[in-house]
Amino acid sequence: MGPKSKDSEIHNLNNSTESESHYGHTEIDVDKLENETESSDPKEEKIQISVRERFVWIKRACCFHHGHAERTRAYHVWPANNVFFFGGRLICGPDPRGLLLTTFSISLSSWVFAVYIGHSALMITFSLILTALVFVNLFLVSTIDPGIIPRNVQASIEEEEEQEGNNDQTRSMRIIVNGVELKQKYCRICKIFRPPRSCHCAICDNCIENFDHHCPWTSQCIGLRNYRFYMTFIFSAIALYTYIFAFSCRRIQKIIWEDENGFLGALSNCPETLAVAAFSVTAIAFLGGLGCYHLYLIAKNQTAYEYFRQRFADSGNPFDKGVFKNFKEVFFMPLPPSRIDLTRILDE
Ligand SMILES: [Zn+2]
Ligand SMILES: [Zn+2]
Repeated sequence: MGPKSKDSEIHNLNNSTESESHYGHTEIDVDKLENETESSDPKEEKIQISVRERFVWIKRACCFHHGHAERTRAYHVWPANNVFFFGGRLICGPDPRGLLLTTFSISLSSWVFAVYIGHSALMITFSLILTALVFVNLFLVSTIDPGIIPRNVQASIEEEEEQEGNNDQTRSMRIIVNGVELKQKYCRICKIFRPPRSCHCAICDNCIENFDHHCPWTSQCIGLRNYRFYMTFIFSAIALYTYIFAFSCRRIQKIIWEDENGFLGALSNCPETLAVAAFSVTAIAFLGGLGCYHLYLIAKNQTAYEYFRQRFADSGNPFDKGVFKNFKEVFFMPLPPSRIDLTRILDE
């Protein structure tokens, strides 16, 4: 099967998903169905509808209603390893330990700063604003669709056998992008020819567009749709820890100057400030290195995966549009819509 027919197949599959992806339409359909099945008396029906209208959003968002759970939605049967919250609206990686550790570290640092280090309301308020900014970015990185490519669930058995039986040469296709020949590999798990720059994440078990890496600290894949927030998370966290570190050092210096029990005696008076200063400087070094590395990659318009695999070492990078346009593409272009709608109700 040629590349065009495969692509069109994937496109059709995506369209079938997108055609039902508007939340508004889906909700109206669900209401109609629920009202049709549950009420017989017209007065009772009216009361039920008005109550339902008021609480329908909360009900759907929190998944606490039993009626909601009875309906099979796309995320209930999602074949990959992701974990979902709020009825499939939030998509997380399979192992939340890294995300919990990151959340705990940031919260603890911010709490120690507010209780022990910050000595004015303005100073504490500013640290809380920075903390909120870090958490907003962390939330976006770890819960939005990173660029999951839907699996080709409609692939026939003959088609699968055809692909499985083929040798390695025919299992990949060659396409030309800006004059550079690239390989499009067939993913046996997703049953698709992966678009250029995408890769199958072994941890999440999805093919991800513009796959960068699977980040253990956010427990999520970093790809086309969350790379921007990954970068803003890194830089907001650097800003927070620089702020905390600067005032921690100032407090330590002040205690040393004022204490009469010598240097070590002074340091034993503020163990929490010392711990936060040490943690902050480690975080700045780690995040700073990571941030610089990714700024370099953005300037070259390469993903970390492409850089690691030396994808364009010989051919030149066909996606490089120049430093300015490469940065614009990552930070200022509108995000492409998600290719999957996990909230949609599946047909029986
Ligand atoms: Zn795949
Ligand atoms: Zn992943």
